[in-house]
Amino acid sequence: MKTKFFLIVMLLTPLFLFSQNPVSGINMLKNSKWPSESSGKTIIEVSWENPTAANELGREWVRQAIEESWEQYANIDFVGWGKSNSSSRGIRIIVDNYGHPHTKGLGTRLDGEENGMLLNFEFLGNYSCYLSKEECIKFIAVHEFGHAIGLAHEHNRLDCLCNEKPQGTPGDFPVTPCDLSSVMNYCNPKWSNYGVLSELDRHGIQKIYGKPGVYLSAVALDEIRLIPCGSGKIVTLHNIKNSINNNAAFDIGIYTEENEPVPQNAVNNLPNDYTIRYFHPDDEAKAKDLKEFLTTKGYASSNITVENMLSRMTRTYPNYIEIWYK
Ligand SMILES: [Zn+2]
Repeated sequence: MKTKFFLIVMLLTPLFLFSQNPVSGINMLKNSKWPSESSGKTIIEVSWENPTAANELGREWVRQAIEESWEQYANIDFVGWGKSNSSSRGIRIIVDNYGHPHTKGLGTRLDGEENGMLLNFEFLGNYSCYLSKEECIKFIAVHEFGHAIGLAHEHNRLDCLCNEKPQGTPGDFPVTPCDLSSVMNYCNPKWSNYGVLSELDRHGIQKIYGKPGVYLSAVALDEIRLIPCGSGKIVTLHNIKNSINNNAAFDIGIYTEENEPVPQNAVNNLPNDYTIRYFHPDDEAKAKDLKEFLTTKGYASSNITVENMLSRMTRTYPNYIEIWYK
């Protein structure tokens, strides 16, 4: 027991010191994240409460704006886009040409909610548009869809120096540093960042939903560390690394300190050929996801054990998983 603990500390402490990127400009309400499929993709239904021929062009602009922003940079598919009915799930959009654009809540709070998002296409009331109609509709849509996938107003954060009053549900998970260029920041001199996701918006949303097409998007880890127990194991771990690496948002690396092979007693303590270890309660699901992923890649489920390391650690290490292979 003790040996294992020391081994982990010995192996990991330097990795934590050097490899943990400061990842903190998107501010999220954590439990409002939409769930992902086992493929890692998050699929969210979208429907219109009152589609008409007159608002068809506006609806098309919204769809385009979302395709070129959140959908392009995160592993999210917005599907449907037809007419809402009483059993419609996901985001239900009402077009109100006099209303102030808003959502009734963040993320999954909108699931199936009638008139959950209000968009204005004609700006006939107090809410004005000072750009072209197409620009206003698109820029606003990107911002409101940010709320719909769980993002709070960036300027609500205390660490963001912005004189705008905090507004709406505050976030509880600052995913990136404060970001003036965020589409979610009212203090951005470019209104809604002109509908273009900032560098940190992209990075942040990928931390939450993963990059497009990456299986492990839901995992939202900082790092996966692969630990070969013996030199013959490295090739297999490279294969695993390549199959999950692609353009994954997290770091993934193989621990190979040539002069410090994993001690035999530690190897003996491993419960299976492949042991996936997690060090924070929130990471159990991610570890299980990883196991499922490996089985889709042809690794036998019976050869993989997910191991909870919490009882052996003096502190937790969130968003960090190890795969040991003996
Ligand atoms: Zn807003």
